[in-house]
Amino acid sequence: MSTSLPDPAAPGAAAPWYAPGLRFRCLGPECGDCCSGKHGPGAVWVNPQEMQALASQLGIPFDAFTRRYVRAIRDRYSLTERANHDCVFYDRERGCTVYAARPSQCRTYPFWSRVMALRASWESEAKACPGIGDPGGTVPAEEIRRALDEDGRRFPEGRPDP
Ligand code: SF4
Ligand code: SF4
Repeated sequence: MSTSLPDPAAPGAAAPWYAPGLRFRCLGPECGDCCSGKHGPGAVWVNPQEMQALASQLGIPFDAFTRRYVRAIRDRYSLTERANHDCVFYDRERGCTVYAARPSQCRTYPFWSRVMALRASWESEAKACPGIGDPGGTVPAEEIRRALDEDGRRFPEGRPDP
């Protein structure tokens, strides 16, 4: 289901619930819960531009990249997983091995539309991401909005389930 958020820049729009900023600090690479198979199988959605960026980072041709690292799920493409459901690019010691070219889905997490729709959904996501609520960092509303905008551009009809 698509979850749309009001545009806080619209005339007369009320401030979003996250306007004061949110406590969040990524605890990776020690954590890695969103990259590993800890929560079972998943999908890391990639579009052709993201596949090309990853192929370029790895220094291999696009076709070789897709044969080795991409799978089709319904009408979309995802990175492959290992047998334990870790992302194929996740290293349990080093974290993401393609960090500079990681897809939008990874760059914008946990500031996805479905997570940010309500304070309750944000708080609930803390069960999956221990960085949510961490007192070591505060993410300002502008940065959250940028991530939400990117998420909305990447998945205009809402992020598909795996
Ligand atoms: S689950 Fe959260 S804290 Fe852990 S690596 Fe992912 S974003 Fe960072
Ligand atoms: S591409 Fe990198 S950041 Fe994204 S899920 Fe895989 S290991 Fe994690």
